Amino acid sequence: MKSIIRHIKSFLLYELVKGLALTLRYFFKPKVTLNYPNEKGPLSPRFRGEHALRRYPNGEERCIACKLCEAVCPAQAITIEAEAKPDGSRRTTRYDIDMTKCIYCGLCEEACPVDAIVEGPNFEFATETRAELLYDKEKLLKNGDIWEQQISANLKADRKYR
Ligand code: SF4
Ligand code: SF4
Repeated sequence: MKSIIRHIKSFLLYELVKGLALTLRYFFKPKVTLNYPNEKGPLSPRFRGEHALRRYPNGEERCIACKLCEAVCPAQAITIEAEAKPDGSRRTTRYDIDMTKCIYCGLCEEACPVDAIVEGPNFEFATETRAELLYDKEKLLKNGDIWEQQISANLKADRKYR
């Protein structure tokens, strides 16, 4: 009996019709795919993307060279050198992150007392060479300047949960 049913189904192209019916059903439903990179999905304010060093609105660097981020980094990806300024404050002379070592744990951001080092919303920073992923202070500050608006909005949105 089973064999007869199978032959009838085969003769009537049952599987093909079933497949086409499924296609037709989904044809009119809203699309779940995105036309990346022209369309992008929503990102959480807590998304841990590319690192950035932030400044205060007057342009002064936030980082006070306390080195907490360097100490807490489990991947030992951060290297900081610092010196005292004439006014007694400390500023970094070198702030490097080896992005090939980074595991995007976010501990550097958590440890920073002045919200200087953050993981911003940018996830499109793939490179062709390893050397391009060795970030220096200039690169990190530039990232901060580019993404500051979105970073500060994200920090504000997340503040009540901290
Ligand atoms: S995200 Fe984690 S691994 Fe990456 S630099 Fe910060 S502390 Fe280190
Ligand atoms: S980024 Fe933050 S935690 Fe790291 S040295 Fe500067 S102030 Fe300290």
